[in-house]
Amino acid sequence: MTRTPRKNWMAELVPSDAAPGARRGVRARSGRLEGTQEGQKAMTPLSEGLGLTSARLRLRMVERLRASGIREERVLAAMAQVPRHAFVDEALASRAYEDSALPIGLEQTISQPFIVARMTETLCACAQGGKVLEIGTGCGYQAAILAAIAGEVYSVERIRVLHDRARQNLRPLRLPNLRLVYGDGLNGLPEAAPFDGMLIAAAAADLPETLLLQLRVGGVAIAPLGQDRQSLCRISRTGPRSFARERLEDVRFVPLLPGTT
Ligand code: SAH
Repeated sequence: MTRTPRKNWMAELVPSDAAPGARRGVRARSGRLEGTQEGQKAMTPLSEGLGLTSARLRLRMVERLRASGIREERVLAAMAQVPRHAFVDEALASRAYEDSALPIGLEQTISQPFIVARMTETLCACAQGGKVLEIGTGCGYQAAILAAIAGEVYSVERIRVLHDRARQNLRPLRLPNLRLVYGDGLNGLPEAAPFDGMLIAAAAADLPETLLLQLRVGGVAIAPLGQDRQSLCRISRTGPRSFARERLEDVRFVPLLPGTT
């Protein structure tokens, strides 16, 4: 395990391969837009294969999320568009719209849809049009949902193989406002700070103050905290050196680890 010097980070900043002049929108693997007006037109010939089926499965997933208490329409709309099955191994694609976490290799998991929705919803008020830092890109699914809502998203991953895989998964979606970074998210991303919101996708006993100080005053971080028992916590920066913390619900996340690999 090596530690990436901070000065290399901007060099590692990876654009999400937006084609010049590409309009902002979510593209399915077929390259067709889904969910937007243009997408609805493009959906008709997609009656074969996973295309139409997965759109239906996503809508069913969104209805379940709504029934479980997710209220934020922007989050539900993003989750109706982003093809979760394209972020998991083909062998698991048929389970992509169940409300469960799934393995993505290297002992990591893609979070269950309800948790993705809950975390994004918590950030929505400060994230809309704002700048968000995600720690733990994993397969890139949560980053794509955030990019549909925030103005700018930076997502950091400490495992090189997953960082590269996320880049591949995200390429067809063409999200020009999403930047993937390989590095240790515990350091935050001082070059891009301050952030309006932070989403920490892995659990720690606590978060370093150096990281939380990269939130602007009024900004919010959402993170699983705790060792034996983890709780999803909302941490608001209330002043130059003051934070308010609120426990939301019990969760289970993979650990937030130092360094890169
Ligand atoms: N948001 C992801 C969930 C990934 S699981 C998704 O949608 O798939 C959590 C991820 O956090 C793992 O990929 C793990 O490698 C990463 N991680 C853990 N500690 C980290 C750190 N210090 N910096 C960056 N990423 C970290």
